[in-house]
Amino acid sequence: MAKLQYLVIHCTATPEGREVSAADIRRWHTSPIPTGRGWRQVGYTDLFHLDGSVERLVDNNEDGNVDPWEITNGAAGYNSVSRHIVYAGGCDASMRPKDTRTEAQKEALKKYVLDFHAKHPDVRIVGHNQLAAKACPSFDVPQWLQEIGIKA
Ligand SMILES: [Zn+2]
Repeated sequence: MAKLQYLVIHCTATPEGREVSAADIRRWHTSPIPTGRGWRQVGYTDLFHLDGSVERLVDNNEDGNVDPWEITNGAAGYNSVSRHIVYAGGCDASMRPKDTRTEAQKEALKKYVLDFHAKHPDVRIVGHNQLAAKACPSFDVPQWLQEIGIKA
């Protein structure tokens, strides 16, 4: 069990306006290769739907430690010290990276991140692209944190 160090924000890398279900994510991540990635666990703790509802994919007791049963597979090398969250979207119709967050998703993400930060002020909040050479989550997390009043 390790101390929680990162809250990592992801996108599902799916086209703008398309809903993604928990079952979709489970299939992508835990189905055997080549259908899925063959992981034992999904990549994210919470999923932000287009309508702003938040669905918990993996149990979490909200404390400052990452218990073995809370680990999700969002970013290689960081999973034992991270919580991963994801919004449905992140690509345009041609599958190019795009900030497709709906107003409802932005509001829900803001509320979640502010609550999280109040509870865990020492945990760094980052985009997946700050930990790996990826476009995910298709928006500038440090700039957004500043907009919502969190010093990155
Ligand atoms: Zn990601």
